[in-house]
Amino acid sequence: MTSREIREAFLAFFEDKGHQIVPSAPVVVKNDPTLMFTNAGMNQFKDIFLGDARATYPRVADTQRCLRVSGKHNDLEEVGIDTYHHTLFEMLGNWSFGDYFKKEAIAWGWELLTEVYKLDKDRLYVTVFEGDDVDGLPKDEEAYGFWKGLIAEERILLGNKKDNFWEMGDTGPCGPCSEIHVDCRPDAERNAVDGSMLVNADHPQVIEIWNLVFMQFNRQKDGSLKPLPAKHVDTGMGFERLVRVIQGKASNYDTDVFQPIIGFIAEKAGVRYGHDEQTDIAMRVMADHIRAISFAIADGQLPSNNKAGYVIRRILRRAVRYAYTFLQLKEPFLHKLVPLLAEQFKGVFNELIAQQDFVQKVVLEEEQSFLRTLVTGVQRFEAYAAEHQTIAGEFAFELYDTFGFPIDLTELLAKEKTLNVDMVGFQQALETQKSRSRAATAVDTDDWVVLQGTETVDFVGYDGLESETEIIKYRKVSAKGKNAYQLVLAVTPFYAEGGGQVGDTGVLISKHHGEQVAIIDTKRENGLIVHYTQTLPKEIGGTFVAKVDAAKRRDTEGNHSATHLLHAALRQVLGDHVSQKGSLVNADHLRFDFAHFAKVSDEELAQIERIVNAKVRENIPLEEAREVPFQQAIDAGVTALFGEKYGDQVRVITFDDGFSKELCGGTHVHATGQIGFFKITSESAVAAGVRRVEAITGKKAEQFIQEQVGIVNNIRELLNNPKDFVSALNRLLEENTSLKKEVERTMAGKALQLKGQLVDKAMDVNGIKAIFAQVELPTADAVKTLAYALKGSIENLFLVLAAEINGKPGLTVVISDNLVKQRGWDAGAIVRELAKEIQGGGGGQPFYATAGGKDAGGLEKALVKAKEYVQSHTKLTENVE
Ligand code: ATP
Ligand code: MG
Repeated sequence: MTSREIREAFLAFFEDKGHQIVPSAPVVVKNDPTLMFTNAGMNQFKDIFLGDARATYPRVADTQRCLRVSGKHNDLEEVGIDTYHHTLFEMLGNWSFGDYFKKEAIAWGWELLTEVYKLDKDRLYVTVFEGDDVDGLPKDEEAYGFWKGLIAEERILLGNKKDNFWEMGDTGPCGPCSEIHVDCRPDAERNAVDGSMLVNADHPQVIEIWNLVFMQFNRQKDGSLKPLPAKHVDTGMGFERLVRVIQGKASNYDTDVFQPIIGFIAEKAGVRYGHDEQTDIAMRVMADHIRAISFAIADGQLPSNNKAGYVIRRILRRAVRYAYTFLQLKEPFLHKLVPLLAEQFKGVFNELIAQQDFVQKVVLEEEQSFLRTLVTGVQRFEAYAAEHQTIAGEFAFELYDTFGFPIDLTELLAKEKTLNVDMVGFQQALETQKSRSRAATAVDTDDWVVLQGTETVDFVGYDGLESETEIIKYRKVSAKGKNAYQLVLAVTPFYAEGGGQVGDTGVLISKHHGEQVAIIDTKRENGLIVHYTQTLPKEIGGTFVAKVDAAKRRDTEGNHSATHLLHAALRQVLGDHVSQKGSLVNADHLRFDFAHFAKVSDEELAQIERIVNAKVRENIPLEEAREVPFQQAIDAGVTALFGEKYGDQVRVITFDDGFSKELCGGTHVHATGQIGFFKITSESAVAAGVRRVEAITGKKAEQFIQEQVGIVNNIRELLNNPKDFVSALNRLLEENTSLKKEVERTMAGKALQLKGQLVDKAMDVNGIKAIFAQVELPTADAVKTLAYALKGSIENLFLVLAAEINGKPGLTVVISDNLVKQRGWDAGAIVRELAKEIQGGGGGQPFYATAGGKDAGGLEKALVKAKEYVQSHTKLTENVE
């Protein structure tokens, strides 16, 4: 069977058993503070398990792209080294939401593996939860009993909490599980050591392929378990492992999932796969990582310097570094794998092929910039290694932190030079940084205190800004020593941050005694609408009126609707490739990021503004359709955004059918006229292939224009209100340039004239040509020019110039080079001495120095003092000689 057939057989099997086949959720998670990336098939159903949402179908199945590179499930360091853990992998899963339970889950799992895929029963083992005293849980007798009817008892093994109690994270849904393991070893080995000894023992040929989880509990913050409102089945089977078992290979990388890519890498790098452990690992790392990187980018997570973006950047760098060090691929290479991957996933996850150029461009740019860093880092290392006996932990950490060098790369470089790395020091530096950032972001979240149980929360904020409501649950959160609260309301008009639009703010007013609590933000957590407050109302159980800050909401709506018009106008002017890559809408402005490879010209921007403002003036009414079947919306020409998870029913926002039609959960103006006026304020680049337009609307746009016109009017007035203001300004600038030139010419002439006069004034003091003069020049530059001119034309010169420039006295001392040498005179020291007369100070070089001061009355005295200096010092030297 090919991998494609294997995947199709899985979905067909469960469809046949009454399961709805649903699409994979994006790999990048939004609206869940406990999770960055999808790490299991169940993530997208978390709300259902927790009882926060109702299931649309009681049974579903899918293939979910998962990423295990952070948090509780992090396999990154294993990937490539071993042959069965990946960063991105497909998890095949089937679910029951309060429908069938252990019996069917176990029977169907067995049927699929042994009858459809025809796996050898002799090679299969299953595990069952043995129970746990700390959690007060008994052995899973039920599951044991069902397995006993299907498989020989010696193949049923008991497992502890670590292996047989599945948890999504530190808190959240969990339950006992039953795993299915396959022993892929050759018969000789199987006869020598019994497979049951190697289950869950990290043996590369005895691997877990499927985990059947029986969701029954919600892990609380204090570690206790709370039963879930209903019992569910959640299974996950590693697709790549399954393919390897069915195709009878010794490694996931030997299957048709990875071989095309590995083959391509091997050919380009000029090596053979399977001949050398080091180059094999490098090829596996690349073949694996490009999948994680590509899908993360396709799902909207660009590599960046923090959070999820940084995780992706690090994965990319890990791949580049292996390619660079072990395959000698010193030029960007990874991006070349994107088209292969896109083709491979066609019809499975179309996100990639649809954005192939974009993804490739982002990867290429990242590769280029990291290779540059890598080269600089290696140079830094070489320089350091030349001067040190060992590599200090701090230096290794600097390489890690600033240059993205994983520690094993530093170790490798060090080994080549037979140097040691201080690993303890490195770990310490790493720990310090980690605990620092942990302290900075640590948020302590208490469990929900539930006042009343309801499944779904009603959002009524599309139709009104006020509603009567009750608190259904609340919890305390603390960060940086400050307490705050989060509330869930039975009914709420508050829009929760999402789709780029900020969350509403407003107040919660107690109906009984009028107490008001400010709601400072509203956010979505999975399906819940969570209201943020600084305090709790005194009487939590009563009835409240929830009231949204209307002015802020109206301004935000203007910006949101304008964003839709902008998006449509961008596509009209720049082309259909413009796809949204991010947006932010608040009461003050809007920001829209989109895929486009060139700068948007001023003329294009002007055209976009004209289109949007024309639509504003047409005062097009909002067409809002709340419950449209997803496919129907797509057929009607709506473009779905990549990286967004849509339900079966979607909301479609249309302004002028044929112009702007978007899937959107945000709030909007009733008619475009409310936007008032649209003005773009900037256009810039955010990342490779992503441009950003920022704009304002309504009052803000009006204010902006008034300010700009105000500035222009001021300038116009300063210019005496000319008819053609730009030419007048141009004339003024030209005039200014020519005046400047003229002044320079005059100055040069004057300095020349002065020079002549001063040469004549030079007196002989014991064989030295001395000049002491007060000059009238307008700038310090002119004085300097004059001083240098004199120095150039008189030998044996001792020159002191005094000048008053813009009311400030200044002194310049110049001494011929030969005098500096012969007599050891120092213009700097002399000018400092003279400057005392003008209450100032200064300095410079032995042959040229200047000083400034406060008292212009002392200039004459300074000149006299200078003369005395020359006289006394020349006499002295004569005597000595
Ligand atoms: P393992 O112990 O092998 O790491 P796990 O206990 O972490 O597996 P689960 O969380 O139960 O695995 O995930 C369900 C299934 O997903 C596993 O049975 C396995 O087939 C697959 N799987 C888990 N992690 C990975 C990974 N990093 N790469 C590929 N497949 C994986
Ligand atoms: Mg694991």
